Amino acid sequence: MSFSSQGFAPEIVKALTECGYQKLTPIQQKAIPLARKGHDILANAQTGTGKTAAFALPVIQQLLDSKKSATRRTARALILAPTRELAEQIAVNIADYTKYTSLTVTSVFGGKKMSSQERALEPGVDILVATPGRLQEHIEEENVSIANLEFLVFDEADRMLDMGFVNAIRNIMMEVNTSPQIMLFSATSSAQMNKLASDILRKPKRISVDPENTTASTIAHVVYPVDEERKTELLSELIGRKNWQQVLVFVNYKETANEIVKELKLDGIKAVLCHGDKAQSARRRALEEFKEGKARVMVATDVAARGLDIADLPHVINYDMPFLAEDYVHRIGRTGRAGKKGHAVSFVSREEELTVVQVETLIQQRIRRVEQPGYEPKNRDAYIDKVNTKSAFKNRKGRTNNPNEDQSSAERRMRLKNVIQNKARITKLKK
Ligand code: AMP
Repeated sequence: MSFSSQGFAPEIVKALTECGYQKLTPIQQKAIPLARKGHDILANAQTGTGKTAAFALPVIQQLLDSKKSATRRTARALILAPTRELAEQIAVNIADYTKYTSLTVTSVFGGKKMSSQERALEPGVDILVATPGRLQEHIEEENVSIANLEFLVFDEADRMLDMGFVNAIRNIMMEVNTSPQIMLFSATSSAQMNKLASDILRKPKRISVDPENTTASTIAHVVYPVDEERKTELLSELIGRKNWQQVLVFVNYKETANEIVKELKLDGIKAVLCHGDKAQSARRRALEEFKEGKARVMVATDVAARGLDIADLPHVINYDMPFLAEDYVHRIGRTGRAGKKGHAVSFVSREEELTVVQVETLIQQRIRRVEQPGYEPKNRDAYIDKVNTKSAFKNRKGRTNNPNEDQSSAERRMRLKNVIQNKARITKLKK
């Protein structure tokens, strides 16, 4: 199905052709006709499916059709995203799609000066992309009004809820006096998500490109059971021995990311960092080096990697299992895209076995265990039996996400101790 057959204006089709888009992706095939008819939409779609164009193109076309223009300090369409990276990425994509039209797009998110964003909002904007917290600040300072909003999109709504933005979202909704067309996109579903959707959407059309909470069928999932203190060694060994290129490594803490990059460097493997302590420009540079193959590995935390536009990767490694099983789905959504083969590897210490069970339940698939000779974990059989009990599963359910990437000082001390012991051991072996 081509974009011109969808009745998009020639200036949009021209821009899409320049972006290299020829046919609609499955989520676009489902969402665009419904959105063009004005329906509210509840979509279950992962990153990498083309969801940005799926919600943005109908909004762009309808804004063009209405021939109105934004008045001072107002926005006509609002797209909310959980992180600054995603907001920026969406705004860049929309700027590409609208480059031959007169529509304006701007983004506001934390970490940048309020004053420059205020100046961009001053003349009014057709499409505003924002993170919830920063948008609230601009609304409070009367830099922008969303009272007359025509379109409202929530992208990665599940992540916004995970990050505790539910009140911000509800406050933002109170500012809207019109009945905008609303689209809500999310990679996973939950009871909280369903509640939000039923509160804000009107007779939504539900669409989904993959069965809920599942991952692409082209991905091979593998678990390597390994003791915590030997994970870095195993990482180096696998990357080197199997000659893996373009490896995205996920960790839960910034400190772990720093340590891994140092260790890989010692082993002659160039790795770059992507976490919350790095300035956005540094993260973008790291991503470029990684994409261009100048760095073989990128080590990232969930929050920082969210929204990064990484087309397709052969290998994603969970150095740490994520705190929430849903994050496994987000993380490995970076591989196996567009029907290509993907490889999702998880290093699993004794304490992380339970998360594997939860992930298996979520993705409805058993994950293959592979023991790397020389890295077999010590004494964990009894534990693995225990983790499958119902009560263990229940206890685990109350865990919260880790948006700040900060670990407690006790955990940090423990992990650093392991790294130091590990280093000492490697030095001894090398002598
Ligand atoms: P998204 O899921 O929106 O992050 O999109 C993932 C990637 O697919 C981005 O690099 C988009 O530019 C690209 N993309 C989106 N729609 C299409 C399309 N119809 N044809 C080719 N590439 C696309």
